[in-house]
Amino acid sequence: MKFDPVSNVFELLQFGEFGGVNPSITDSATYTFMKAETMTETFEGTAEGCFLYSRHWNPSNKFLADALAAMEGTESAWVTASGMGAITCAILQICRAGDHIVSSRTVYGGTFAFMQNWLPKYNIGVTFVDPTNLDEVKAAMRPNTRMIYTETMNNPLLQISDIPALSEIANQHGAKLVVDNTFTPLMVAPAQLGAHIVVYSLTKFINGKNDCVGGAICAPIEFINALSNVNDGTAMLLGPVLDPLRSSSVLKNLHTLHIRMQKHSQNAMFLAARFRESNLRFLYPGMENHPGHELLKRMMNPDFGFGGMIAIDLETADKASRFMELMEERGVGYLAVSLGYFKTLFSNSGKSTSSEVPEDEQKKMGLSAGLVRFSVGLDHDIERTWQKIKSCLIDLKMI
Ligand SMILES: *Cc1c(COP(=O)(O)O)cnc(C)c1O
Repeated sequence: MKFDPVSNVFELLQFGEFGGVNPSITDSATYTFMKAETMTETFEGTAEGCFLYSRHWNPSNKFLADALAAMEGTESAWVTASGMGAITCAILQICRAGDHIVSSRTVYGGTFAFMQNWLPKYNIGVTFVDPTNLDEVKAAMRPNTRMIYTETMNNPLLQISDIPALSEIANQHGAKLVVDNTFTPLMVAPAQLGAHIVVYSLTKFINGKNDCVGGAICAPIEFINALSNVNDGTAMLLGPVLDPLRSSSVLKNLHTLHIRMQKHSQNAMFLAARFRESNLRFLYPGMENHPGHELLKRMMNPDFGFGGMIAIDLETADKASRFMELMEERGVGYLAVSLGYFKTLFSNSGKSTSSEVPEDEQKKMGLSAGLVRFSVGLDHDIERTWQKIKSCLIDLKMI
């Protein structure tokens, strides 16, 4: 049977107390036991279905984690209070002082800052590479490399990582491949392609409402158990726990993700076609001339299209600013960072989400100062949106 992430989520039977169709929200930090012995067993991790304390596990978080594990086809998952909470816990669970990471140079700005500025304090070294250059990845591997870290589709150049090939390199070196799949949920299932651990910012497409931040780690059960171990588990001890009220709302939103991804992708493809007709410089992985197009086609589930992210190059930061201000005035969407929202969001990457990346690194990445990243929304009439964008481009003499 074909791997179907959506059916995997829909087939779960997650009832609430009293038969509620939505799982009950467990609004408790601690849990009582009728027998003292059961508490001991829960501490030791042997009491099935018992909860101890909500930093460790909360039933509402467990429902969301189970749904995400089903979506990714991993044995288990863990949810966190932010995407950065998931990323940093996954990294620190795998690496210790003296270890080395080979990471994509074009990771999310916060991830880059963590690797560049924070990990050195604990003597964990990182070599940044172009994730699309497999020879560079191979050459960067050292005997103490414990992890290859990349994003399926990266920000803001929308480059695509070859997950099966990176997995092979990781396996040859006994390292773990950790993949951030935030831009491409449902579209790509990294764990099915050889990734050992998949991390998410739930804040983006998965929740889709921009009303909270959240994160997740999808991994084998052994890894999740280690992460949550009361004695030395990174997530348990650093404590970035997601609030159960939030996890219950994220879980409900997860159930409309497939329809939203289809619409985001359709709208983005429509705009990409218009951008091409207008001879604009832009990046969209759905276009044949995008360097990652064929690779993405090989890895993706075609039911969900090529995603909702487009980047367009306005050449200078000044022009990008004027373009974005005009678009906001004319109701295209909001000048804001983040993505995966029902309304279109746009920002100048060099001045916002990639501003943690030093300018020389930005140059190395090929990031233009005028790059405007779009997270295309769920617009009902995308032709109308295009007419507005076009009017802004005409006023700026870009077309
Ligand atoms: C937003 C984002 C993150 C960080 O997630 P938060 O929920 O903001 O902590 C990590 N990776 C990617 C690709 C993101 O877009």
